[in-house]
Amino acid sequence: MAWQCAKCGVDLAPKSTVFSYMGMTFAHEVLRCPVCGLVFIQKELADGKMAEVEQLMEEK
Ligand SMILES: [Zn+2]
Repeated sequence: MAWQCAKCGVDLAPKSTVFSYMGMTFAHEVLRCPVCGLVFIQKELADGKMAEVEQLMEEK
């Protein structure tokens, strides 16, 4: 089942997006509405990526 934008009612399309967090940047594919450009980031993805970055920071 495809995710849809609640506002536009269209299917979301995967798009590679660059994130910036705590001075680091990384790219990940997220679902984005092709009409209004709203980006949907699953909570698990956000939490996982943030934890990953925090771990990298601690190792330095
Ligand atoms: Zn939309």
